Amino acid sequence: MGFVSYFLGIVKGFWNLLSGLSVTIRYFFKKTNTQQYPEERLPLPERSRSMIKLIYDGEKDMFNCVACLMCMKACPNSCIKLEGVRMPDGKRRMTNFKLDFSTCIFCGYCVEACGFDALTFVSEEYENSVYKRGSLLQDEQAMKWVRPAHLAPAPEPAPAPAAAAPTPAVSAIPTGTSPAGITPPPQAGA
Ligand code: SF4
Ligand code: SF4
Repeated sequence: MGFVSYFLGIVKGFWNLLSGLSVTIRYFFKKTNTQQYPEERLPLPERSRSMIKLIYDGEKDMFNCVACLMCMKACPNSCIKLEGVRMPDGKRRMTNFKLDFSTCIFCGYCVEACGFDALTFVSEEYENSVYKRGSLLQDEQAMKWVRPAHLAPAPEPAPAPAAAAPTPAVSAIPTGTSPAGITPPPQAGA
């Protein structure tokens, strides 16, 4: 009896060894999918929250930011500090913008709060490690980003044609007047 159980133990161990090796052998002949980073870089989805940037309009040679302060107020960690001035044409422009990425949690509230297409997440800048924490405090020049043509926002849809003016109803005729060509009936007893 002891010899049989000893023999069965050997067979069972050998079977377990083959089961494990079968997985190894299967993957040995499969096509590898190793990315040789940093030589090879996979494109991230467009909506990845890699870095926050200030959109710069190259044609107008200015940032889109109008210093409305909405992003600053929306930030739960008070990461954003900015200043602006009113220009001679009456429009406000941002003069100084600072974002401390050491306390930013990439929640996106600032991007959502911006109604001037001035702040955005970019996906391609994901190598954001630095040696000193102070380097994570970025200004408008460090955050400057010109939107590539393929990411340009879709044009606004054309406004729908105005509806035709309604035909005035007969009841719109003032009381006591008669339309031209219609003689009012004689009053009783007149
Ligand atoms: S992503 Fe969130 S935490 Fe970071 S600056 Fe914007 S609002 Fe503040
Ligand atoms: S919400 Fe937009 S436009 Fe307003 S200050 Fe922030 S980035 Fe500038």
